[in-house]
Amino acid sequence: MLNPQLFSKIRHVEPYIPGEQPQQGGFIKLNTNENPYPPSPRVLKVFQSLGRELLPRYPDPETAVLSQAIANHYGLEKDQVFTGNGSDEVLALAFMTFFNSELPVLFPDVTYSFYKVWCELYNIPYRTPLLSNSFKINLDDYTAGENGGVVLANPNAPTAIYEDLSFIEAVLSANRDCIVIVDEAYIDFGGVSALSLINSYENLLVVHTMSKYRGLAGARISYAMGDRYLIGCLNDVKNSFNSYTMDVVAQAMGTAAIKDEDYYRSRADELIQTRNRFSGEMRDMGFVLTDSMTNFVFATHHDYKAEQLYDRLRQENILVRYLTGERTKNHLRISIGTEEDMKHVVNALKKIMK
Ligand SMILES: *Cc1c(COP(=O)(O)O)cnc(C)c1O
Repeated sequence: MLNPQLFSKIRHVEPYIPGEQPQQGGFIKLNTNENPYPPSPRVLKVFQSLGRELLPRYPDPETAVLSQAIANHYGLEKDQVFTGNGSDEVLALAFMTFFNSELPVLFPDVTYSFYKVWCELYNIPYRTPLLSNSFKINLDDYTAGENGGVVLANPNAPTAIYEDLSFIEAVLSANRDCIVIVDEAYIDFGGVSALSLINSYENLLVVHTMSKYRGLAGARISYAMGDRYLIGCLNDVKNSFNSYTMDVVAQAMGTAAIKDEDYYRSRADELIQTRNRFSGEMRDMGFVLTDSMTNFVFATHHDYKAEQLYDRLRQENILVRYLTGERTKNHLRISIGTEEDMKHVVNALKKIMK
């Protein structure tokens, strides 16, 4: 232990704990909601053709080519797009930029656990209204008074539940005096994005990632979209921290990935079918599942402890996420892999539960 005077000058924080990335192979890895399919051939081609002359040069700090490609894809202007090194960074910068009042920021008690970590890190006051017993967001909690900000993951994680556009619009119109961040990490697995509301609500920031739908978790590519004034403020904060958050490889691959919608759409449609089939089989085995609009399911069983199922699946070389929160602790979060992966899971569960 350090001497107390030295100790007292250090900032101590309780960090977010990411899912396990096992260094030995052999697992069917369904614990961090990664995409099970290979990258788009167009993305791979860009990756393989990256010239060695790129590496000694700094990347474009404004990510102009990537931002323009993202803007084109969604029918926006380039100055309505902010890019960054994964949503974890984009969201961290957005919290720092937009939650700058004495009023609490609101987000559900059960949601992406990083939100709370950033509030603690930046000393942002926050409140976490309880989800209902069926893990639904109660709209009234977000429309009752003035807030310092609102953060909603839609679909929510780990609950997998999606709220439709009218719900998001009700939150936006009740919170015109603060920023509402909608974290749409899983929106392309069946939901409708709130992007269409950007031109009507200057308080809306929509955050997307290429880690899930576009299968580029290893490349760390994410973007936020909103009013150009908000995007300008985000860029000012980013440029006060690190001008080069996105390396040359990420910028090039992200540009190729956003242009190959056909590939990702057909892969996601395949995944949705697998998810729906797998959900049916889980229910047949007595699991209770929320209706998932994501690439994972959120499941519990009355007769089996989630922790034991997690341990037994691990012995079968299947890695899922066992949740530890007070309200989620008898739940498993299982990412959807390939059709074959999920057959293995069903067979393993049948063996474990017989
Ligand atoms: C996966 C996830 C993120 C982080 O995505 P990265 O871009 O990989 O950092 C953010 N929010 C939610 C809700 C997620 O599930």
